[in-house]
Amino acid sequence: MSEQVICIGCGVTIQTEDETKVGYAPPSALERDPIICQRCFRLKHYNEVQDVSLTDDDFLNILHGIGQADGLVVKIVDIFDFNGSWLPGLHRFVGKKDVLLVGNKVDLLPKSVKHEKVTRWMRQTARELGLQPRDVFLVSANKGDGMKEVMVAIDEYRNGKDVYVVGCTNVGKSTFINRIIKEATGKGNIITTSYFPGTTLDMIEIPLDDGSALYDTPGIINHHQMAHFVDKKDLKVITPKKEIKPKVYQLNEQQTLFFGGLARLDYVSGGRRPFVCYMSNELFIHRTKREHADELYERHLGELLQPPRKSYCEQLPPLVAHHFTLKEPKTDIVFSGLGWVTCHEPGAQVIAYAPKGVGVMLRKSLI
Ligand code: GDP
Repeated sequence: MSEQVICIGCGVTIQTEDETKVGYAPPSALERDPIICQRCFRLKHYNEVQDVSLTDDDFLNILHGIGQADGLVVKIVDIFDFNGSWLPGLHRFVGKKDVLLVGNKVDLLPKSVKHEKVTRWMRQTARELGLQPRDVFLVSANKGDGMKEVMVAIDEYRNGKDVYVVGCTNVGKSTFINRIIKEATGKGNIITTSYFPGTTLDMIEIPLDDGSALYDTPGIINHHQMAHFVDKKDLKVITPKKEIKPKVYQLNEQQTLFFGGLARLDYVSGGRRPFVCYMSNELFIHRTKREHADELYERHLGELLQPPRKSYCEQLPPLVAHHFTLKEPKTDIVFSGLGWVTCHEPGAQVIAYAPKGVGVMLRKSLI
């Protein structure tokens, strides 16, 4: 091919020679309009994902490039997996550039939650993590809630300059940008979106009407998210799609909760108290006595305790124990990508288990 052709789905340069490499499209695809690569085509029409390889180094290069450029940075996080989707290095690259922090998937939070409280929490947590956003927003890119406000703010803060949208995979960055394109031009769904993390390659340039552009940067894969340890079907189970209905368990000491077979919480000591679980409504939670928990896991992983499904159990890394003493009046025990459990009153001793490699942490309660 003499002329460079860009996939309208993911932004990669189209090539017609090697089917195993990114950007492949069969020659016949070049006659279609718009042109999309085979990967995006499959994703769009068959909901099927091919592996992509964006290394951490590639991503650092992209961040470095953004650091050098002049413009506004829009950082998207998944409000359901705030810390897991944070992109820890970003603040070192943005320098003096304005950053707008956007928490996506607000539709998942229970309706009773006050948005103001969440944005205050986001602002404070961002500061603790080293980032001083110029402004903070909550949106549902899927549903469109809050999008108008963000678009107005983007236009105001960019001051005629370019916009760089960054976020780790699966935060809903493509959905967010698709929505902007739709609102701005009336054309929807030209960037690929999927359940599977890691599906947006290369920077996509979206022209803005004053000659500047909005750039969609590829999402970095955050290896600590549960999403990387389960297969596609199970990912659908653990990814909440609707407003989360918190499940409350009054636990006695020495009781255990299993979250499918993917995570486990042992309540060691601290007297009878409530534990409120914020996870996908479809995820099965099983309560048992702590003394039976090991045996139950051994015998029923992949059956009673699923996901993972039986055929995928062997690929799940072993559960690792994280010991915590809770000190805040309200603490969230966070299982990266799976959700969190809120514990009221300080003083409880718990052990949180997650597959080796999946982040588990405490934070001041979000809700
Ligand atoms: P990307 O990897 O950051 O580009 O993320 P995608 O746009 O592909 O979205 C990842 C997943 O999150 C998909 O399953 C989307 O349907 C879902 N998603 C995106 N935006 C929202 C939202 O506002 N609310 C909810 N509940 N899910 C969303």
